Amino acid sequence: MIRPKTEEEIELLRINGELVSKTLAEVGKLVAPGVTTVKLNEVAETFIRDHGAVPSFKGFDGFPAALCMSVNDVVVHGFPSDRPLEEGDIVSVDCGTLYKGYNGDSAYTFPVGEVDAETRKLLDVTKASLYKGIEAAVAGNRTGDIGYAVQSYAEGFGFSVVRELEGHGVGKEMHEEPGVPNYGRRGHGARLIDGMTICIEPMICAGGRGVYLARNGWAVHTADHKNAAHYELTVVVRKGRAQQLSTFDYIEKDGSIKF
Ligand code: MG
Ligand code: MG
Repeated sequence: MIRPKTEEEIELLRINGELVSKTLAEVGKLVAPGVTTVKLNEVAETFIRDHGAVPSFKGFDGFPAALCMSVNDVVVHGFPSDRPLEEGDIVSVDCGTLYKGYNGDSAYTFPVGEVDAETRKLLDVTKASLYKGIEAAVAGNRTGDIGYAVQSYAEGFGFSVVRELEGHGVGKEMHEEPGVPNYGRRGHGARLIDGMTICIEPMICAGGRGVYLARNGWAVHTADHKNAAHYELTVVVRKGRAQQLSTFDYIEKDGSIKF
């Protein structure tokens, strides 16, 4: 049985959610052709530490950086690198924080300059599939309802869903039960309960859903080397609509960065 979070715990998760949301927005302001992901990682780490938190990914199972930086055919878990971003690239930025013993975890895929129409569609559909998943994250539903919502939406556009990785519960640990797959059958999987905090994070491929692990043991690439996108938000399950504990508003609404 998964224990729902107390309101005090949810508030700490919300504070972490705010910080990861604002960190992603700080990174997003700098995403442009010529910038390296190493530089973006430095900016994020400084921003997180300046707010009294710790970048939770750094050192997690030996991960070397504050952010996962996954460019183009890298689905998730890429290392920051010295290769400058190029016009037309996409970069998926995954950010984790630890503050007062609780975790924040969110991700956003940014276009670098102008991207082609198919890539723009991949980004839009992946983000929309996340919101479809959130709509299904209602107490009494099951994780399969979330997975079904994400999968049926994304596949409806001819895209494919990575199966090897999934969303998760979040709290004192970065990854808690239940697993939250991005595919599934309605009415199957773990039951969602009021006060359960979960990260929903569709990983959607422009081509086939096959992936492989790079030799560094971290970066997950698409087998066909077509682009993949990744968006992630943290929510608390409620009896009605789930409440977002992180947001893309700071990225998408100009001038709203205040801490
Ligand atoms: Mg994440
Ligand atoms: Mg996550």
